[in-house]
Amino acid sequence: MKCPYCSASDSKVIDSRPTEDGEKIRRRRECLKCGRRFTTYEIVERVPIIVVKKDGSREEFDRQKLLGGMLRACEKRPVSYQMLEAAVENIEQAIRAEYEQEVTSIHIGELAMAELKKVDEVAYVRFASVYRQFSDINTFMEELREILNDRTAREQE
Ligand SMILES: [Zn+2]
Repeated sequence: MKCPYCSASDSKVIDSRPTEDGEKIRRRRECLKCGRRFTTYEIVERVPIIVVKKDGSREEFDRQKLLGGMLRACEKRPVSYQMLEAAVENIEQAIRAEYEQEVTSIHIGELAMAELKKVDEVAYVRFASVYRQFSDINTFMEELREILNDRTAREQE
């Protein structure tokens, strides 16, 4: 690690401690040449999640893309950005807990639908309809009916 003052490459670590959130290690270093002190941070490199798509091709899991799709489903709905970010965080944690490295796009879709269902029913149905691309309209209608039935049942209670 080059000294920011004199560019010498040798330094010694004089203090090393995790940051408050525990995500990084903060190190105080002292340059062996000029004796000035500077700070470096060390972070864990996350192993990427690989998504296997329906056609068998693979791409790296993209949080922003998933968040974007969920945001669109929640357009004009009373769902905050923070709620969706938390939902995406839940999804990523579920994938990391369950899978070694590869996960199917179908499974990610299921996880996203489960999260949206907790947040907003309309957004859930919208997402589900786009996600399944209307290829299975019966399932879509069934789920829509179930949601409506649920609501009617609740109103009658
Ligand atoms: Zn130096």
